[in-house]
Amino acid sequence: MSPSIEPTQELNAPEPEHCPGPESDLAGKEDACQGCPNQEICSSNTVKGPDPDLPLINARLSQIDHKILVLSGKGGVGKSTFTSMLSWALAADDSLEVGAMDLDICGPSLPRMLGAEGEGVHQSNSGWSPVYVADNLGLMSIGFMLPDPDSAIIWRGAKKNGLIKQFLKDVNWGEHLDYLVVDTPPGTSDEHLAVTTYMKEVGVDGALIVTTPQEVALLDVRKEIDFCRKAGIKILGLVENMSGFVCPNCKGQSQIFKPTTGGGEQLCKDLNLKFLGSVPLDPRIGACCDHGRCFFDEYPDSPATTAILDVVDALRDQVELDMTKLTLE
Ligand code: SF4
Repeated sequence: MSPSIEPTQELNAPEPEHCPGPESDLAGKEDACQGCPNQEICSSNTVKGPDPDLPLINARLSQIDHKILVLSGKGGVGKSTFTSMLSWALAADDSLEVGAMDLDICGPSLPRMLGAEGEGVHQSNSGWSPVYVADNLGLMSIGFMLPDPDSAIIWRGAKKNGLIKQFLKDVNWGEHLDYLVVDTPPGTSDEHLAVTTYMKEVGVDGALIVTTPQEVALLDVRKEIDFCRKAGIKILGLVENMSGFVCPNCKGQSQIFKPTTGGGEQLCKDLNLKFLGSVPLDPRIGACCDHGRCFFDEYPDSPATTAILDVVDALRDQVELDMTKLTLE
């Protein structure tokens, strides 16, 4: 007969890389758990917990109305570019207070895209102050803590988890934020597991998934969707980026990445997800991001501007619809 398991137990060994978190719903079930000395304990959901920092994280994040994770299955689909434009677009509404959190620890690009490269983070008794790139748009990124922008971050899971916890616990966003937009690395890795575990109690509105039209990108998006479903993260919708090309001179559009299997819209139909819209390639988007300028302000007449603002409106509708439903329940 196997020994009975006590109500709470210590782990047999330190959590390995890619651990989903011994107290998470995925504990003992993920690929990283196979062969882990803790698997039996973790599968039993009796690991000693909860994390003593969780109440502090909950208190800090409870002052934020809407929390949105920006995810992509594959790198190179323009996720951080879209995050920066989503942040600019939300902050264009003067009535909103907006925060952007860059959790792409190995490749933080929001400081450059939002025009804050070279800035530093200030620490005070009330926590770490974000860098304000507009009166109502604050940014926090590990990019602010690197000695130079070319420094490589070579960290294992536990250290990444520690930094993410500190960002969630110690960044002082002020008395109230309407939106916190969280940029994550591509794929489903330590950062995703950490952020979903630490934000589980306070809750996130959901995830916005960014893809490009080709099947090679959609293959990875399906994995991301599966991750969200396993981790209990609502998918607010999907946006197809680089969906056609807009010539900056004649404004004509052409397909560069052809959607061989129907693209993001068909995927959403197949999986019963909200399709938020398509954003065409416009080379001036890249130039604006490189120089930390707001694309909408610089090129308000670009078809890409209209498309991005339509996606942001659809996203806000989705978030606010969910709030209305919650209020009525
Ligand atoms: S079994 Fe899974 S959840 Fe538990 S410590 Fe190992 S990797 Fe982490």
